[in-house]
Amino acid sequence: MNFAELSTYFERLEKTTSRNTITEILAELFKKSTPDAIGKICYLLQGRVVPLFEPIEFGVADKMMMRAIALGLSIEVKTVNDVFKKLGDIGSAAEFLKKAGKKSHLAQQTFLDVGNTIKNEKLPITDVFDHFVKIAKSTGPGSQDEKIKLLAELIRVAEPLSVRYLVRIPLGKMRLGFSDMTILDALSWMLKGDKSYKKKIEAAYNVRPDLGYIAQTVKARGMDGLRHVTPKVGTPIMMARANRLTSAVEIFEKIGKCAVEYKYDGLRLQVHYVKSEKRKAKSEKIKMFSRNLEDVTPMFPDIAEAVKLQTEADEVIFEGEVVAYNPKTHVFVPFQETMQRKRKYDIAAKALEIPVKLFVFELLYVDGISYLTKTYEERKKKLKLIIKTFKDSRFPPKADRRGNDTTGSTIVYAQEKVTQNETDVEDMFAESVSLHFEGIIAKKLDGVYEAGIRGWNWIKFKKAMSKKLNDTLDVLVMGYTLGEGKRTAFGVGQFLTGVYDQKQDKFMTVTKIGTGLTDEQFREFIKRVHKLKSKEKPATYEVDTLLTPDVWLMPGLVVEVSSDEITRSAVHTAGRVMEKSKSGKAFSVKTPGFALRFPRLEKFRDDKRPEDATTVTEIDSLFKKQGQ
Ligand code: ATP
Repeated sequence: MNFAELSTYFERLEKTTSRNTITEILAELFKKSTPDAIGKICYLLQGRVVPLFEPIEFGVADKMMMRAIALGLSIEVKTVNDVFKKLGDIGSAAEFLKKAGKKSHLAQQTFLDVGNTIKNEKLPITDVFDHFVKIAKSTGPGSQDEKIKLLAELIRVAEPLSVRYLVRIPLGKMRLGFSDMTILDALSWMLKGDKSYKKKIEAAYNVRPDLGYIAQTVKARGMDGLRHVTPKVGTPIMMARANRLTSAVEIFEKIGKCAVEYKYDGLRLQVHYVKSEKRKAKSEKIKMFSRNLEDVTPMFPDIAEAVKLQTEADEVIFEGEVVAYNPKTHVFVPFQETMQRKRKYDIAAKALEIPVKLFVFELLYVDGISYLTKTYEERKKKLKLIIKTFKDSRFPPKADRRGNDTTGSTIVYAQEKVTQNETDVEDMFAESVSLHFEGIIAKKLDGVYEAGIRGWNWIKFKKAMSKKLNDTLDVLVMGYTLGEGKRTAFGVGQFLTGVYDQKQDKFMTVTKIGTGLTDEQFREFIKRVHKLKSKEKPATYEVDTLLTPDVWLMPGLVVEVSSDEITRSAVHTAGRVMEKSKSGKAFSVKTPGFALRFPRLEKFRDDKRPEDATTVTEIDSLFKKQGQ
């Protein structure tokens, strides 16, 4: 398959919002692909050249792209700009200009120095892919011109429809309305003509969330190939998540005697470490990932040092929660302050100013053996053999009342007690909250590590936030209305937010947030959404026309909100069911959706992907439980 043919699929995908149709188109595309190409196609569908967890950026902005289009088509940048302004989309502008150029035989003219390594206008996918990799990798002085030249080369050769996507991909503007989950569905459809393999494919993806690798494996070796998918140091594993209950009694009813740990309020870290002796490399290899699989290694040079010092294994993957503390008082600080470590500059200075501890609680892999399918008890036992901690009587004053020998080092064990006694749970809960943590997590003793799943092997029991609704929700910011009055200064009035509907792979609205935000919170919001602005409604959003915001935002920012209650609402789409009127023309609300009463912003969840937002199913169960 060549890029021209692939572009016809992109176009078909762009034209539909129906999840079933998207799955069918993708399955057809995958059937036609070779094992070599399918991985690359999967990355390109996401507008990338590497898996999502690898930080690679094209480093191409609209202005640069306009220069590349102009160079590729031998026209003025101003012409490109004019058409772009008219059409509102730079990909379509380039396509239009390419068509116009073809008619006027522009394409046959002698072009400026754009190189001519590619000749075929249908473009082999590998050539495009290699070009994109070069563009992404080109950095430093002169890289802008290099990128422009490489892009121009593609634009010059490709046929018009391909040009549309060659322009959109490096700009991160593919905007096809689906996520990885739909691609996994499509892989099942490719093999079996239905979604019956989806669960197994997803299980493998949760261990290696690299779509290209998974697609290539099933294409080349069928479902059998997936049996060999095991953890790989350096590739993040989708993190296990916790379900929620609201009392010790409920927890014991569900999982019996269990291990109760503090629920720390920091940033979840998955640490991947390879000792140098084993790799015969000059230095050790260490990577740290956050919940949304972002590589956050540069954020924590002090933890990297501690890992080298405290880990006794050649190759290991483990998890914990990193929490910052005040160096003077040794008191732990809220999540938001820990997140201040997330910065590009002055990292070393911040590390001193905001020191951290890593509370470890999970072992996923060690020296060639996957621990994912081992029980909690086995994992914990081994974890304690691998991570060495040492005493330091200075720290922290209260955290270690139980006398555990885990106080001094940067990496310490999460506070834990195996129990079936209600008072123990309540004591731990109270202690955890008094130390500014969130409550407790109970873990099933014979439970496996459920990669990527919110199962019942982990159960969280959190501080009550309000009478009726005793948990916060994580919502995706989908757009905003322009401000009035005092808010005019910010240019933002209210934020429209939504939750994730897993069944449809769509985001459904649940509330607007605005009143009650501090000026600081507004500023933070604006800073964060700046890059996400979109001219059109993203294809994965389902929003009632009454709630159409002034500015749409691409899926990117997740925030945690508390609220008094979940209520029913006819305008919000989360959980809403519509029915056709008798005439069959109009739709009316059969079951209203869910909404939040008095939503309040708690924190920005930069550690969550859009698909990690609270799901419609969760809201439904919280709604049923609230006030009980
Ligand atoms: P919440 O918003 O309630 O923190 P979440 O959706 O971020 O929940 P959950 O999977 O529901 O994530 O809860 C588990 C989270 O709690 C983990 O991602 C981790 O960051 C944090 N955590 C703190 N202490 C522990 C612990 N001892 N064991 C496991 N996770 C812990």
